[in-house]
Amino acid sequence: SERLPQPEKTRVLTVSNQKGGVGKTTTAVNLAAALARQGARVLVIDLDPQGNASTALGVEHRAETRSVYDVIINDMPLADVVQKSPEFGALFCVPATIHLAGAEIELVSLVAREQRLRRALDLHVREMTDPYHYVFIDCPPSLGLLTINAFVAAREVLIPIQCEYYALEGLSQLLKNIELIEKHLNPDLAVSTILLTMYDSRTNLANQVAQDVRDHFPDQVLDTLIPRSVRVSEAPSYGQSVISYDLNSAGSLSYLEAAAEIARRGAPETGAQQ
Ligand code: ADP
Ligand code: MG
Repeated sequence: SERLPQPEKTRVLTVSNQKGGVGKTTTAVNLAAALARQGARVLVIDLDPQGNASTALGVEHRAETRSVYDVIINDMPLADVVQKSPEFGALFCVPATIHLAGAEIELVSLVAREQRLRRALDLHVREMTDPYHYVFIDCPPSLGLLTINAFVAAREVLIPIQCEYYALEGLSQLLKNIELIEKHLNPDLAVSTILLTMYDSRTNLANQVAQDVRDHFPDQVLDTLIPRSVRVSEAPSYGQSVISYDLNSAGSLSYLEAAAEIARRGAPETGAQQ
């Protein structure tokens, strides 16, 4: 497989969209696997109490498992909860367990409640001999404190958009929220990447939505579209990304291509000075 250029500094992308079912988890997991397959060291942080990313990557996330909950609420070092995914040599996952469901409320009374993931991640990456090239944070479909923690920990936002009629609805709210975070909590944050998912080229509607999104966000939308594909939706039940489940399927090839695009584009320039 192709060797991609690797970033010099760890790129942290939060995969976010307040809508559920638009392909956030599928995108986080499969882009991570696609980059790992092409030679990158990649971490997925599962920040959704549903734990779908943990399931899809085949890592343990029973209630007793050390998880992102312990990091955010109990100050456990991230290094103590990272698991290696069974798929590729350099693909790792911080699992989410059912305990995370209570974290939104527990966070409210904690100090630095918006910064807890960022602090843990910064410390972990600083202590690594070979830091990750990419970190993907899989967000829940809401704008609570968990998602805010993801926005504060990341420099890039990746928005998956499903090619359907209501695609652009709610997006302006998401962008407004990201702007607020940028202004008050994380000046480095930028929407770097938009990925069109569950695309069905046979429908005019999907084509039109794709074109609309490209018109609105010419710099962010990747050329690659992710087609609707049964293989993509089957893979999680085998605890696998579609990349391992069926490497040559259309879904796998499109995620590999999207990952290559992200790698070739590199990290965005940020307005804030470092
Ligand atoms: P979110 O994390 O935004 O809630 P998911 O990634 O869980 O969304 O996707 C929602 C559902 O759509 C899942 O059942 C998933 O398997 C399915 N799905 C996602 N992407 C595709 C695709 N490209 N083709 C077919 N099914 C998909
Ligand atoms: Mg999800």
